[in-house]
Amino acid sequence: MKVINNKKELSDLIFAFKANKQTVGFVPTMGALHEGHLSLIKKSNIENDITVISIFVNPTQFNNKNDYNKYPRIIDKDIDTLKNVKCDILFIPTEEEMYPKEDTKVFDLGNLDKVMEGKHRPGHFYGVALIVSKLFELVKPHKAYFGEKDFQQVAIINRLCKIQNYEIEIIACPIIRESDGLAMSSRNMLLSAEQRENVALISKTLLASVEQSKSMTVSELKEWVISEINSNHFLDVEYFDIVNDSTLESIEDWTEREHSIGCIAVHVGSIRLIDNIRFYF
Ligand code: AMP
Repeated sequence: MKVINNKKELSDLIFAFKANKQTVGFVPTMGALHEGHLSLIKKSNIENDITVISIFVNPTQFNNKNDYNKYPRIIDKDIDTLKNVKCDILFIPTEEEMYPKEDTKVFDLGNLDKVMEGKHRPGHFYGVALIVSKLFELVKPHKAYFGEKDFQQVAIINRLCKIQNYEIEIIACPIIRESDGLAMSSRNMLLSAEQRENVALISKTLLASVEQSKSMTVSELKEWVISEINSNHFLDVEYFDIVNDSTLESIEDWTEREHSIGCIAVHVGSIRLIDNIRFYF
């Protein structure tokens, strides 16, 4: 595994691989790697000759300074973790490397950044689009891998490729969960033991909601999910919405059940977790 901090060195190396007709897969991350990240890397390894991973805690996508400051940074452990999978290039840029001057780019993300995470974390998806566009233009991968845990982010990245004319195939990968159902997340390591025991209710409720959806209207189900989770005093639902999986607009009924997805954000003390569930069965 080659560890690179410098953009020029990265693009030269990738240029050489591509000149050699090798395909490049890319997995952008913010580090504190877990099995969710590794699932993306493993898929990239299967589908490409070369896999590039980036680790960068991107300041522009944090709308909350405290969240940015306490985001886990365990780079030595991450490098150790990556020894368990094939990783050809690990790119760890500094902030100065990615943001040498003020950015003026604008992205028309349509309705996709106005709802759910976009509504509750103003500026978040601009920061995501900005860093991903910089990384895509640098790595120029054939394929890039994203997790469906951040479902709205996948929709934003697909839109970004369209508006920026990137010829990059976006591969959406399923959510990897802990044995009690909790969606893996770097932020989980910030939970206290007591909080950790209680957060399992989030995914348990989402899972149970699929069954409940057979006998409830969409609005009844939304209320049910929110009240189930809020009944646990460790948990405070920020939003739960059921949306169309391509427009991200709220759905009113179950006529397009196979395209519906329930997305949730929950505060656990000062930690914020997200998860989602499909309603087809
Ligand atoms: P992050 O480091 O949180 O920015 O995540 C980097 C990538 O890993 C994103 O595409 C995430 O959606 C994906 N990812 C994070 N957690 C999971 C998970 N539990 N299952 C699958 N993919 C995940």
